[in-house]
Amino acid sequence: MADFLQQLNESQREAVIYNDGPSLVIAGAGSGKTRVITYKIAYLLKNGISPHSILALTFTNKAAREMKVRVTEIIGENMTRLLWIGTFHSIFSKILRREASRIGFYSDFTIYDKQDSKNLIKNIIKEKKLDDKIYKPTFVQNIISKAKNALITPKQYANNCDLIEQYNQAQKAYILYDIYLTYSNRCKIANAMDFDDLLFYTYLLFNECKEIAQKYWNRFQFILVDEYQDTNFAQHEIIQQLTIEQHHRICIVGDDAQSIYSFRGANISNILNFRSIYPESKLFKLEQNYRSTQTIVNAANSLISKNREQIPKTIYSQKAIGEKIRLTGFYSDYEEGSRVANCIAEMHMLKKYEYKDFVILYRTNAQSRIFEEALRKLNIPYKIYGGLSFYQRKEIKDVVAYMRLASNLADEEAIRRIINYPNRGIGDITVNKIIAAASFHNTILWEVLSNPLSYNLKINAATFEKLKKFQLLINRFVEKVSTQNAYNAGRMIIRETGLINNELYEDQTPENISRIQNLEELSNSLYTFVSSRIEEGNANIKISDFLAEIFLLTDQDTDKNENINFVTMMTIHSAKGLEFKNVFVVGLEEGLFPSELSKQNLQEIEEERRLFYVAITRAKENVILTYAKNRFQNGQFHDRLPSRFIKDIDEQYLSLPSKSHVCTNSGGGGSFKESSLINHQNNQSNIGDLRIGNKIRHKRFGDGRIVALIGKNDNAQATVEFEQVGIKQLLLKFARIEMI
Ligand code: ATP
Ligand code: MG
Repeated sequence: MADFLQQLNESQREAVIYNDGPSLVIAGAGSGKTRVITYKIAYLLKNGISPHSILALTFTNKAAREMKVRVTEIIGENMTRLLWIGTFHSIFSKILRREASRIGFYSDFTIYDKQDSKNLIKNIIKEKKLDDKIYKPTFVQNIISKAKNALITPKQYANNCDLIEQYNQAQKAYILYDIYLTYSNRCKIANAMDFDDLLFYTYLLFNECKEIAQKYWNRFQFILVDEYQDTNFAQHEIIQQLTIEQHHRICIVGDDAQSIYSFRGANISNILNFRSIYPESKLFKLEQNYRSTQTIVNAANSLISKNREQIPKTIYSQKAIGEKIRLTGFYSDYEEGSRVANCIAEMHMLKKYEYKDFVILYRTNAQSRIFEEALRKLNIPYKIYGGLSFYQRKEIKDVVAYMRLASNLADEEAIRRIINYPNRGIGDITVNKIIAAASFHNTILWEVLSNPLSYNLKINAATFEKLKKFQLLINRFVEKVSTQNAYNAGRMIIRETGLINNELYEDQTPENISRIQNLEELSNSLYTFVSSRIEEGNANIKISDFLAEIFLLTDQDTDKNENINFVTMMTIHSAKGLEFKNVFVVGLEEGLFPSELSKQNLQEIEEERRLFYVAITRAKENVILTYAKNRFQNGQFHDRLPSRFIKDIDEQYLSLPSKSHVCTNSGGGGSFKESSLINHQNNQSNIGDLRIGNKIRHKRFGDGRIVALIGKNDNAQATVEFEQVGIKQLLLKFARIEMI
């Protein structure tokens, strides 16, 4: 037996070496599903299968990268260079670039991100003079996205009874169809695809060009898919297109208990139907969890058993029994933040955990701020995933829009973004004239703005000159982009857009300095991109190659500091597949987790419960659950009840530490004296009914004692020493306190 196969247990090994037909591995969290896929790739390569004929699909780029690294460790670099491991979106965009002409696109098509696509929808609604209160752009965007993920073309949409019935208004449905159709045409004219198109057009490509489908099913002799429970209809159909008609060598792995993306169209029945689509498929079960302590695995099992809809399965751990799951409620969200931060500091100091051993998981991104502040106060390094990715920052998007336009002159959203940025005096009226003419003549904006006379554009001589100048600038970029490598062309574009000179350098505020640094970072990233490609043997690396890569990156993917020690903060959704020694799951409150919206029906509650299951099962050693009794949300305090999910965990696995101590055996925390912070000058003995020494209660900070009072009327302030959060200065006009 090859050495590396010994790093698997028997069931994993069986799953790895079975490659004669379709197979599926359904197993609980941490049981080695991803490991099976990784080792299967290594096994196939070892057995002489060409890397060219293997396709592995993962849920994130990060997971793809890690898989490739692991396979390389096992099998050596030569074999893995040609492997296709990536997300559905990145692999399909690669295929689409190669075959673009077959479906009416050019290979350097732009990928519109969510914002580009929303802007275009907004503009279409405006151009059609529709009421944007009835046809809200986000709503329309969702409808279009749903239709595409269900593989419904605009034409089919018009005839689709289900969708029309849903809105119960034929006229509204017709208008939605009309927007969808216009949107599709406009994207096509702009040689642009949105994220959903990457699936939609791949499906159409394989459906309409049988010889292309054949080419890829001949090529990919082995297809492996991780996290299959979260595939949507389009992804599921494409996988079938690639396998069903000829060979059935497909291996999918997943866990129905971790299906958490139904809001994005993922359909758990895909995994359940697999066996009826591939009746000869072999099912493998993995039962041992290698990630977590026995207590964590048992607690997670007890939680998920409360869901009615699930495939029964066993999962156990042979690791240490481990500590109980700790549960703590706090007076307020603020206190929750500072206590969690204290606990991390304590575990770091006393138990010698590194910062990278901690993750704070929350239901919604908005919860991160309080933890961020608390960690910053204690000088604990952290990183928040889910903020704006590097390539989504404004200054980067601006420069990238120039690069996009230079590589694809049809890119409508890029033109709109930069035609007057930085300001070159081309106003909205002119831009609207260009758009109207382009729409009338069914051509691209660039064509009209480069030939205003031929299109009878009613503009004055000054505007004509301004358009000419813009055109010359872009033409210079086009020339560079086609003759120079990505780094040289990119640097020239960054320099010559005029953005740095006109806007950013003008004012040396910290924000501007950081923007300039970001632009420098963009230039570094171009350099790294080009040099790594050259190392791989590709000499001629163009800006369009760089763009193709960055369009699909998220902030998790752009993180270069993977080895640096910091606490991670992220939503539970983005923690899928990852593992950490210590996991904090925070904000476990009714209305937040489960979220208010999902409390309506059983299916949604079950999905939230699965989300909680995903959260707990990320932990190797410790799980710490917290909730607050008061939370500041949407401008006001709300009383909160602990989440119903807490009761779903069998009590024997839970411990309830003494009041407000998150860390067991700690005794730490407690209010620390900050008397030097108190300003005793101008101290008064009372303001109104308040006196020094009074005990008060504050909605957010809890109970405390007034230690100083200063100021008058609107400026009256109380300094309060709170039991839980220490000293705070409160402006009485706003502070909502009550005497106790
Ligand atoms: P999830 O459901 O969270 O995606 P998974 O089923 O994909 O989990 P993996 O991530 O593959 O599980 O494995 C969980 C952890 O257990 C990893 O750290 C992995 O390296 C380790 N592991 C899996 N199988 C074995 C084994 N046979 N021997 C040692 N470690 C293992
Ligand atoms: Mg996994």
